Amino acid sequence: KDSFSNSAVNIRKIQRPQNADGKQSRIADYFASNVFDLRAMVKRLSSQDLETMAKVMKFGGKIDAQLAERIAAAAREWAMEKGATHYCHWFQPQTGATAEKHDAFLWFDKQGNPIERFTGPELLQSEPDASSFPSGGIRSTFEARGYTGWDPSSPMFIMETENGKTLYIPSVFISYHGHALDFKTPLLRSNKTLSLEAVKTLHLLGEKKVHYVSTSVGPEQEFFIIDKELALKRIDLKFSGRTVFGRKPPKGQELEDHYFAHIPSRVQAFFNELEVELYKLGVPIKTRHNEVAPGQFEIAPIFESSNIAADHNQLAMKCIKSIALKHGFVALMHEKPFAGVNGSGKHVNWSMSDSTGRNLLDPGATPHENLVFLTFLCAILQGIHDNADVLRASIASAGNDHRLGANEAPPAIISAFLGNTLDKILNALETGSGDHVNAEKIMIDLGISHLQGVSKDNTDRNRTSPFAFTGNKFEFRAVGSSASISYPTTILNSAVRDGLAKINAKLESRAHNGIVSDNHLLIILKEVIKETKKIRFEGNGYSKDWLDEAEQRGLSNLSMTPNSLAVLSDVNKTQFLIDADVFNAEDIESRLAIQQERYIKQSLIEVNCAIEMAQTQVLPVCLDYLEKLMENVKLAKELSVASPANKIANEIGKEVSHLYSELNSLKLQYEKIANDESFEHHNLNNTTEFIAQNIVPKLVELRNSVDLLESLVPSALWPYPKYSEMLFGI
Ligand code: ADP
Ligand code: MG
Repeated sequence: KDSFSNSAVNIRKIQRPQNADGKQSRIADYFASNVFDLRAMVKRLSSQDLETMAKVMKFGGKIDAQLAERIAAAAREWAMEKGATHYCHWFQPQTGATAEKHDAFLWFDKQGNPIERFTGPELLQSEPDASSFPSGGIRSTFEARGYTGWDPSSPMFIMETENGKTLYIPSVFISYHGHALDFKTPLLRSNKTLSLEAVKTLHLLGEKKVHYVSTSVGPEQEFFIIDKELALKRIDLKFSGRTVFGRKPPKGQELEDHYFAHIPSRVQAFFNELEVELYKLGVPIKTRHNEVAPGQFEIAPIFESSNIAADHNQLAMKCIKSIALKHGFVALMHEKPFAGVNGSGKHVNWSMSDSTGRNLLDPGATPHENLVFLTFLCAILQGIHDNADVLRASIASAGNDHRLGANEAPPAIISAFLGNTLDKILNALETGSGDHVNAEKIMIDLGISHLQGVSKDNTDRNRTSPFAFTGNKFEFRAVGSSASISYPTTILNSAVRDGLAKINAKLESRAHNGIVSDNHLLIILKEVIKETKKIRFEGNGYSKDWLDEAEQRGLSNLSMTPNSLAVLSDVNKTQFLIDADVFNAEDIESRLAIQQERYIKQSLIEVNCAIEMAQTQVLPVCLDYLEKLMENVKLAKELSVASPANKIANEIGKEVSHLYSELNSLKLQYEKIANDESFEHHNLNNTTEFIAQNIVPKLVELRNSVDLLESLVPSALWPYPKYSEMLFGI
């Protein structure tokens, strides 16, 4: 493969960090070297302060003004030693990206001499002008105050560029009235309430020592890498991140020769630099490999607590993009940058563990541990079953619409895969003995006392399920590659909290002295298994049969963003988010509006790209070629020689007319929206529906026409790089 690539020409050589003696450093020597973590604090804080920080970082909690002052001073010292000149509150507005505004450490002392300063209040809070961030109508511009507040559970770090270093303070972003304007605040809230409910469950099962439950996440990040020069020649890639046109090359991914293949040298150089950067930032990237589609790659970290994993995934996406550019690449995070080959997802691997360090989704060694495991499994099923539609809405985006259900990613139907062993056990529990159970006997009969084989059983995993149990965690596979994982994780946490709350109510009604017997527990689990059965699916999620079966089961199949978002205006469906104290009704309304606006804007940017490319690139090139053909016809006539030019011109002429009419009919639909100034604020439901029903299909028609012409017009004349150039040869 390398012999065909141009990689030898322009590989950016990257040296891994070296020791003083010129030898390559071990990763462990520089891992998290740019992070103000407990190791960095040891030298600068008292042991008492350290202990407080360690607790807050793990279990959350408040930092008082004096401690904040001491931490700010220590962080500034540390950061300045490393060459930082500025600090910033780093937050996650609902654009899906991150935001930052830098402040210099510069100040003046009483005598007016310049000094460096960074105070407790400056660490704790900042007030950026928030008027230009999406708020979904919560904040009108005249009251544009938004506050960023330090999130001490995620460590500060130094972002290093060739042109300077800045201390980053992971922060929440809230309005003057306390509304969450970001993705981090709700995630933190959902972790907190999930913990409360899960601890209650564990106490009811007799595990009184547990005082905290946290969620862990390991997101697998897929993306495409394209040569920068080629990518920049395409209006659509430059502005929308997706190719709106492009004919499938003679070969795509059918030979399955890209998946796990040798990483091309030029990409390897990119990976080297990416990993060094991310390691310094404390992002524990573990795997890297070629993905299924040509030009597609993936990295995955070692899982971490969900809040930190979400911050780290943002850093990973940022570094992937910026380091790709240094290597003459463009990295595409879009869910479906190329038609005809796989799109990109972000599998969110998710689990819960308690304050004793036990993973609650890991079947244990004793019968009791396995009952705990089954209880949590059932709570998850209950949460997913009852809140599937909102979970679906949490991953809705214009980009993901092109991926979900496209024979490469799970369909838009939410179901859960458990694997053979667990499926059998749940079925047996469901149909087993009546209301009087002998837990001990059941556990032996069903093999519940020895479940440790389950993780092995699940190596043969189902890749077609949107929510699959994979041994000791669930894998939420429907999340889009460009999305912030915070939001889907928040909704998942809240759904599971809801499932736990419902089970807790049942447990409480049967508890004696605050503890439920194994027999009673099994009766309750049996009820839950029965009630949630329709959400479980072990078969092929990509098959047509499943669509029919799911419909019969009464599962929703909300295939497009507009209809999937619509559930957010159904108060019955969103009540669990309010119960979880994650959002209030106004928050939900505003999130809905923001997601709808994003859908509209992204779709219209794509339409703009398509119109511009068709009108200013494809049509003129086709007409030029037609002119040439006509000259050929004329010449052939004069010389009385046979020429196919007339036929070719005829064929192309027809297609060009077709293209012209498709272009006009797309423009017609587009103008209906573009001229309706009210759509953004008053008419979001109608506008999103209009786009899905009338514009998206028109864009497909236009694409078909353009792509057909791509096969008829000489390659040398074609106005933008083709799939065959972009997807191969790096
Ligand atoms: P695969 O592609 O085979 O699913 P990867 O190694 O690409 O596996 O990614 C699996 C991800 O799941 C990694 O980020 C890993 O750290 C994460 N993971 C493993 N165990 C857990 C767990 N208990 N909770 C959350 N995430 C986990
Ligand atoms: Mg993977």
